[in-house]
Amino acid sequence: MCVFCNIIKGEIPSEKVFEDDDCIIIKDINPKAKIHLLLIPKVHYALLNEQTELDAITLGKLLQKFSLMAGDFGLSGGFRVIINQGRDGGQEVGHLHVHILGGAQLRGF
Ligand code: AMP
Ligand code: ZN
Repeated sequence: MCVFCNIIKGEIPSEKVFEDDDCIIIKDINPKAKIHLLLIPKVHYALLNEQTELDAITLGKLLQKFSLMAGDFGLSGGFRVIINQGRDGGQEVGHLHVHILGGAQLRGF
């Protein structure tokens, strides 16, 4: 069973900061920025090219919703969104998730 599915079910502990019907948002266990959150859709799929149309609509809505409440998470100054995809993208967990980084000015790419 996938680690993020287990976190969603509450079978593995996590530092959850938000939950709704479609997602959970947790603190990354190995933060790469002052604030490093993971927005995890509850539906299990690994890659963007595996999305159903509903999955795609849901992910878009979740990003919009997050952007409107970013200040609640200490991200009023902005944030960076990263979705790692596949081997070359450095994806380690095969359950699609959105990295949200911020809390201080990030270095450019
Ligand atoms: P990715 O390389 O995009 O698949 O990112 C996986 C991310 O999940 C990494 O940043 C890990 O630090 C994070 N991670 C893995 N296991 C956990 C966990 N149990 N709780 C919180 N974050 C985790
Ligand atoms: Zn999963």
